[in-house]
Amino acid sequence: LARLRARLSRSNNAIGNVLLALLSSGGLDEQSWEDVEDTLLQADLGVEATDELVGKLRTRVKVDGATDVETVKGWLREELLALVDPSMDRRVAASRVGERPSVILVVGVNGTGKTTTVGKLARVLVAENKDVVLGAADTFRAAAADQLQTWGERVGVPTVRSEREGADPASVAFDAVKSAAEYEADVVIIDTAGRLHNKAGLMDELSKVKRVIEKQSPIDEVLLVLDATTGQNGMRQAEVFGQAVEVTGIVLSKLDGTAKGGIVVNVQRRLGVPVKLVGLGEGPDDLAPFDPEAFVDAIIG
Ligand code: GDP
Repeated sequence: LARLRARLSRSNNAIGNVLLALLSSGGLDEQSWEDVEDTLLQADLGVEATDELVGKLRTRVKVDGATDVETVKGWLREELLALVDPSMDRRVAASRVGERPSVILVVGVNGTGKTTTVGKLARVLVAENKDVVLGAADTFRAAAADQLQTWGERVGVPTVRSEREGADPASVAFDAVKSAAEYEADVVIIDTAGRLHNKAGLMDELSKVKRVIEKQSPIDEVLLVLDATTGQNGMRQAEVFGQAVEVTGIVLSKLDGTAKGGIVVNVQRRLGVPVKLVGLGEGPDDLAPFDPEAFVDAIIG
């Protein structure tokens, strides 16, 4: 997270810095609050959350009459942390449940970092001594299964796939869960297709994958991968997926490439599920559990 902190606070939009500049230039007038609002909006916090946050800060400043930077910054930290909601359960289901492996389904639009996330997550779990099986249910492009298998080889776990391009994704998912049970694996992670240009088709495909898996096993986790650099567009995609499957956690990828970390708050509010993991690069070790406190510190700078 040190890297994330560095990345976010390097941005001259770091919210704390803006506040600092405003307060040291002679107190908070109407224009300064608008500048604070702009900064929060630019960080993709979203209109509602920004409104709420600035409203609360203004009230506290008014009631207390405080103008020293550290006090106001402290309040900002508190209120932002409350918005991120540290009480949410951010653990990823990845151990055997009774006699069966946990099942994790990974969904999201192509290009958001789904396959990379599956590989990185497998790496984290292998490091925790878990037996992992991957399922390549993105059968639309043969290259997708190859890419997943490469990740599997890199981290030393088997990948269940079909050799046939265009094979039924639900049947590959079924086979992956079956193999994982036979291997007595701890967890099976299933990569899915994400062609959003055909929304109805995508929904049908995902619900079929889900239905077919559930013939043998409950699904313990549905992780939605969202590209942190895509802003409002990404939010709309998230909502479409939220309608197709019951998302249980969000992976915010490519957080290393943006100062718009406020999207964490935005997406949690819209979907009502926690951000559980963040992607901080393309390498195998670039996936981290989401830590609300460190995150708020990084944003405030
Ligand atoms: P998919 O189509 O959703 O499966 O996406 P991929 O896993 O193929 O990723 C798309 C591109 O994003 C690849 O070039 C990845 O290396 C890159 N990528 C994925 N996650 C991250 C991340 O956290 N940070 C950065 N900088 N790049 C990422």
